[in-house]
Order: sequence, then C-alpha cells, then structure tokens
Amino acid sequence: MTDFSCEVHIKAARKPHRCEHCEQEILKGEPADKLVGTFDGDFGWSYMHTDCAEAGSAYASSRSCYGIDWLWLHELVESNEVEELRWLMNAYPAVASRMNVEAIVAKHDMMRSWA
Ligand SMILES: [Zn+2]
Repeated sequence: MTDFSCEVHIKAARKPHRCEHCEQEILKGEPADKLVGTFDGDFGWSYMHTDCAEAGSAYASSRSCYGIDWLWLHELVESNEVEELRWLMNAYPAVASRMNVEAIVAKHDMMRSWA
C-alpha cells in the first residue's frame, strides 16, 4: 500500500535506470519520471519512462485502480490481460511497442483462431 508518494519529472537521467512499468532500460540522458514515497512503511522510489508513467496513470484512472489495486504495466503482460494490452496498443503505441505487446496480442489472436 502506498502511504505517501510524489512524482518528480527528470529532464535527463544522469545514469541508466530500469523502468518499473515496462522493465526496459531508461537510457542516460532520456527524460524520466521518478516516483518517491513510502510503500508499506518503507521509503523507496521507482523510475519510469515519461510515456510509461503517463500510460500507467491513464490506465489506473480509467480502471479506478489505486492503492492496493495499483499495478505496473508489465503485470498486464504477465497476467496475459490481452484486452488491456489492446487498450495500451491503441492509447500508447510507443509504450506497447517497447513492451513488445503487439507480438503477445498477435500470438493470442492466432491461438484463438485455431480453437
Ligand atoms: Zn518504460
């Protein structure tokens, strides 16, 4: 659970970080968003690509998933939420492409067409 958090925009990352949403690298010099706060009583932070942060917030607000229901976008891939991944492809194609979502959705559609 998030007790307190705030998001800070970084114009250019001073060193590479892993994006918490897509699990891909944020390159040195790329803009990023840093989420800082206490989570379950522990202080911590996460880095995100700027567009991943935007997609994650849009997803959370459209699905009303805050607090314990909050999720990182890579969790949609892990739980095979194909319809949610389709939403991501339409709304945030650059993020979907970074996460290789097209391949997952295409594979799903192919499997379904065989059934
Ligand atoms: Zn990302």
